[in-house]
Amino acid sequence: LDPVLAIIGRPNVGKSTLVNRILGRREAVVEDTPGVTRDRVMYSATWNGRNFTVVDTGGWEHDARGIHARVAEQAEMAVELADAVLFVVDSAVGATATDEGVMKMLRKSKKPVIMVANKVDDFAQEADSATLWGLGFGEPYPVSALHGRGVADLLDHVMDTL
Ligand code: GDP
Ligand code: MG
Repeated sequence: LDPVLAIIGRPNVGKSTLVNRILGRREAVVEDTPGVTRDRVMYSATWNGRNFTVVDTGGWEHDARGIHARVAEQAEMAVELADAVLFVVDSAVGATATDEGVMKMLRKSKKPVIMVANKVDDFAQEADSATLWGLGFGEPYPVSALHGRGVADLLDHVMDTL
């Protein structure tokens, strides 16, 4: 069985774009406005000759409990089935109140978590990701899922972790 990498984070941070970048094909649904109903989708991926499974999460239909609970639910799923978790934030926004509870749970789980600062489209934005040091997950990886910037470094690190 291939190791499983789960991608979690709030809506619109670029999880599905990152999944597509990892796959090298446009398979995950990217939404400019949230509203897709699928909860999680698994894809087969390869990096440096090693196979792994990527789980995209989302399905960000705000249900009655609100987005807070939905993100927490996805994180719990990730902790259960994943061998490693990519925790994605929008670098311009950083970690939010919604992320706090999720991070607490992830820390407790002792699963390997890699912080990803997405939407770092150019060098000037790289400083934004430095604020993610100190959250307790080690080195943050600044990437641009949209342009591919930093994704190879991230995947090298993922493969060391899986
Ligand atoms: P998800 O809800 O976390 O899966 O986010 P999506 O992958 O659907 O992306 C949400 C929006 O952010 C889309 O408009 C993407 O084109 C945009 N986006 C994703 N990654 C990047 C990035 O690296 N840079 C920029 N500028 N936009 C991005
Ligand atoms: Mg998505």
